[in-house]
Amino acid sequence: MGCAPSITVSQSGVVYCRESEESNSPKPSRLNQKNQVTINTSTGASEKSDTSHMFQFCKDRRGTLEAETQTSQSSANMKGEMNEVDFGPMKLIQPQMQVLLVFGKEDSQSDSFWWAAEKGGYQCSIVHNQVDALECYLEKQHEVIIVDHRHKSFDALALCRSVRATQGSQHSVIVAVVKKSPADREEVSVLSLLSAGFNRRFVENTNTGACLNELLQLEHGEVKNHFRFRAAAALFTALEKTSDRVQITDEQHVVQYVNTAYEHFIGLSSEEIVGKELSDIPQSDKNKTEQMDTIHSQLKKGKSWEGTMYSKKKNGENVAQHVNIIPEQGYGGKVRQLVYVSRNQYHQEFKDGLSDSYDIMRNSGVTDFKAFHKSGYDGCSLASDPGNLTRRPSMARIHSMMIEAPITQVINIINAAQENSPVTVVQALDKVLEILRSSELYAPPLNSQANEEDQMTTDLVGGLMTHSGFALQRKMSGPEATITRVISSLMPNNSGTYINQVAPDIKQLLLTDTYWDFDILALERITLNRPLVNLGMSVFLRFNVCSYLNCSETVLRNWLQVIEANYHSSNPYHNSTHAADVLHSTAYFLNKDKLKQCFQTYDEVASLIAATVHDVDHPGRTNSFLCNAGSELAILYNDTAVLESHHAALAFQITTKEDRCNIFKNMDVTDYRLLRQTIIDMVLATEMTKHFEHLNKFSTSFVKINAEDGSSMVSASPGGSSLASDCLVTPQNRTLIRRMLIKCADVSNPTKPQELCVAWAGRIAEEYFSQTEEEKRRGLPVVMPIFDRVTCSIPKSQTSFIEYFINDMFDLWDEFVDCPEVIAHLQSNYKYWKDMEAKEQEKKLEKTESNENSI
Ligand code: AMP
Ligand code: ZN
Repeated sequence: MGCAPSITVSQSGVVYCRESEESNSPKPSRLNQKNQVTINTSTGASEKSDTSHMFQFCKDRRGTLEAETQTSQSSANMKGEMNEVDFGPMKLIQPQMQVLLVFGKEDSQSDSFWWAAEKGGYQCSIVHNQVDALECYLEKQHEVIIVDHRHKSFDALALCRSVRATQGSQHSVIVAVVKKSPADREEVSVLSLLSAGFNRRFVENTNTGACLNELLQLEHGEVKNHFRFRAAAALFTALEKTSDRVQITDEQHVVQYVNTAYEHFIGLSSEEIVGKELSDIPQSDKNKTEQMDTIHSQLKKGKSWEGTMYSKKKNGENVAQHVNIIPEQGYGGKVRQLVYVSRNQYHQEFKDGLSDSYDIMRNSGVTDFKAFHKSGYDGCSLASDPGNLTRRPSMARIHSMMIEAPITQVINIINAAQENSPVTVVQALDKVLEILRSSELYAPPLNSQANEEDQMTTDLVGGLMTHSGFALQRKMSGPEATITRVISSLMPNNSGTYINQVAPDIKQLLLTDTYWDFDILALERITLNRPLVNLGMSVFLRFNVCSYLNCSETVLRNWLQVIEANYHSSNPYHNSTHAADVLHSTAYFLNKDKLKQCFQTYDEVASLIAATVHDVDHPGRTNSFLCNAGSELAILYNDTAVLESHHAALAFQITTKEDRCNIFKNMDVTDYRLLRQTIIDMVLATEMTKHFEHLNKFSTSFVKINAEDGSSMVSASPGGSSLASDCLVTPQNRTLIRRMLIKCADVSNPTKPQELCVAWAGRIAEEYFSQTEEEKRRGLPVVMPIFDRVTCSIPKSQTSFIEYFINDMFDLWDEFVDCPEVIAHLQSNYKYWKDMEAKEQEKKLEKTESNENSI
């Protein structure tokens, strides 16, 4: 006899009452006092006959039953270990399995499943007809439905079809219980069952153990997999909501999936794409065959590929997009699927990333996404954990934005710009991307400027623009020693105004220091190698530097003296005359209208100071030499901008060491910091490894390329008004102008009157010869072998230097500051060197001929 059940009436539409008919059964009662039995009045189920009742084990009953059935499988333990399910990187908790038994008439088979469910710890319901079955299923969405297909009391196939017609049913496993075929008769095909929507067939077996095994296999097999598939709905939702375009194909390139972003981008619906081979979808003919071959071989090896590919939109437009193709590997490393992800414009994506995540959070549980409709996903898993699903992708995206280098951001912007651009623009931008992706961003390829056989240019470039890394020991005096030595020997108590103390011939010569033709070498002579302090006083006073710095003329003179003393008078080229020469050129350019318009006083002061100190304590050797020799300075500055770092650092050490020469002493701290930064920036800009970087930055900021003839011109408003009026003179722009100014001044010697130009060429060559000799003597790498005293052609060295470093720079500078007089000297000097070169060649030829004749 059945026990007296407690009865609850539910409004929900489910029927649940039944009395045990097996009171004499040795098995535990299906309903004990703890059972809750609910009767659904809304369906009138309670009025139905006993046979239409359903029973349900409630959650709180499980423990009791399991305790009662100690001999049965320890389901709780099993579940404790096994209900965690991995789905890729997802962790899922599989809920307790629910079983619906649909048996027209209860018999030993239904009882066996009932007890098996009880033993296995599954929630179980039993109904007796199609209507109740559907009702119950819609309420509970059981993972397993076991349908009796042995009797004709209801149409099992029809029932299965109607269950399959409900949303989300694809995740339920439906099992047909069939009669055992007589041994002599062939088994009936399962095809009719499969086509009705059944997943499995269970040949009648009233053994409870067999039924339990069937349920266990279902739980750990199909039910678990369906549980995973259900979680995939959340992933599809994420894919549908992302602004990145996603396409998935199989290994044969048959499209399996495209997301909404992809559909929008390409202009085709997924129905038009999915199921087709990529080759059947209009492809852009702009993808190079070699590139496609590389991609295929890369993917075949299981390696992903990233780069620009063209796609053809529905409207026929070819669009470049940055694509990441990732092969998904199956068993044995075989590529099973290919995932194509192309990124949307980065900042749009960034914005979308945030709004996407909000959208997904808002919409979590909503079932009206395209993928849901298409495949009937129910969105349950999304609703179950919206936080994890939504936050993680967008946070990852935010993070990747933060670590993106500026150049990557630029590339992304260009990629995005290509998306909706005409083919010609895409092609031009492609070229841009190619250049941006190359590591030598600013250096022109050597071959485009000089042929490979031009050893002179190669040597100059190698010597001036690279660092070599041979670590050999060499002792060089550190900055501290130099300062102390010089300051103590050079500190007369100067008083009175400078001009009164200057010798008349120097005074006379300095009257011409505002001209480009000013003879710096004459000043060197008459000041007995003290051109810097003399020219410095003249120039600094003219630019009112003392009043800007709030320092006395005496402090200024002390400072100039100390700085000059720290130049090596023994250097043929890098001595204080070179510093004075650079100062002269700087001051000359500062007088140009363009610079007066762009610059503030502090730019002028910084430029004059930077020019004065820019090569202080130069050892007469190049950076490459110092690195190869493992000098103290190279070690101190990590082989990077060694000399320039030293010049800047030492300049400030010298200046601030003693009040008597500290020109910055009375400055406001903030002004000083800005001035110091500006000076350092300018001195570092003289490093030749950055030559093309500075040039190109200046050129791209100020010079517009004339689209028609490819010629360049400095940005200027119609009517030839000044740069300052039509191009924004931002602090960044001023930095580029200051760098260009000091660079032009630093290597202005080929643009000076011929006599000076020739003298400087001789001096630099002498310094290089001396370096080469020392390198040979010490067994160091010879960085510029062409600068060999015996064999070197100075004219050739000058034409190479001018062609490679000077011409373009001064062209740009002339267009900016307007200095035709400078260009005129450069051109005539270049011609002079070319003539000299030709004469040398002639002489060489004559010599070989006479040698040959004498033989
Ligand atoms: P700096 O050492 O600051 O004077 O930088 C200028 C660079 O250009 C130095 O490496 C010089 O050696 C080089 N340079 C300047 N004038 C010439 C010239 N006329 N011929 C060859 N190299 C030069
Ligand atoms: Zn210099």
